[in-house]
Amino acid sequence: MAIDVAFSIQANDYLDPDRAYDLYWSGVITDKKKFLCPGTDCTAQVTCANLDEDLLDMKVVPHYRIYGEHSKDCEVFNNKPLNLQYEDGTSVKEEKRTVDESIVDTFLLERPDSYYDEARSDRGANNQVFKKPEFVRRSKDTRLRETGSIGNIYSVRSVVGRYIRYRNDGSIKQRRVNILGKDIYYRSIFKCIWEQDLNELPSYPVIYYGWAFINRLPSGAGYQIKFKKKFKRGDDEYTSTIMIADRLIESYKIKKLVATRLEKINAQDKPTAFVFVYGEPSENISQAGNKYANFSIKNLDMIDINYDCPLPKEYNK
Ligand SMILES: [Zn+2]
Repeated sequence: MAIDVAFSIQANDYLDPDRAYDLYWSGVITDKKKFLCPGTDCTAQVTCANLDEDLLDMKVVPHYRIYGEHSKDCEVFNNKPLNLQYEDGTSVKEEKRTVDESIVDTFLLERPDSYYDEARSDRGANNQVFKKPEFVRRSKDTRLRETGSIGNIYSVRSVVGRYIRYRNDGSIKQRRVNILGKDIYYRSIFKCIWEQDLNELPSYPVIYYGWAFINRLPSGAGYQIKFKKKFKRGDDEYTSTIMIADRLIESYKIKKLVATRLEKINAQDKPTAFVFVYGEPSENISQAGNKYANFSIKNLDMIDINYDCPLPKEYNK
């Protein structure tokens, strides 16, 4: 039986696998087995598979597996919707278990300040008689409108992960993701750099992807990502790059994940990676007359760097 929300003993909160993955790589969670079934009075042990998996990237997405016995009142065991609530009494919609095929995920371009908060203060001490908190912790950040879902997406990596999940469960055609108030079908959110004429791009940011060279900047202050294939306009070609300053990596909470990947890739003979970036290319011409259509990112959540192409082979270019 699949669950999309589990209780993390270490984070002391109910999390979806994407969030658990972020918290693992930011150091809040250290053990993939320290999860419990979210059902009422249930302490069935849950493992978050692939939580510590970096090598295969997101081809195998993080997901929960239940071991051990459910309580007799457990909603998961009885195949009923979970009864999870925020502290103010509003219920948490469990979007994925209900397989509502018209579901729209929300991709937020900034995480709430409280996203990486460590365990909350009401944490129970003894795991053996562990009592899960009654309520799901709600973001303290009131600027963000809650959608009543635990499953907001905060990174390009998670969009890629959801895409793979929905493709596997056959619901990809109906799935949409809301970005900045605009609904975009998952099946049209990825654009391969190679096939794009700059005149025909959408007028809003989407996720561009392709194989890229990863180089340490000569200044030693960061990395340059240079896509192997180019944008075009008519017969003109536009090289596309992204700069990632070390400063940006330092300021990123999940830097362990990004830094690990960049360092491993950079140690290869010919450092290349499969890269996704959320944004819009911006054109310029260098002093030497070379044409560029570059991306700039303010936040590493807007980029996903992979050792290999995590999507089906038609994307692998
Ligand atoms: Zn259970």
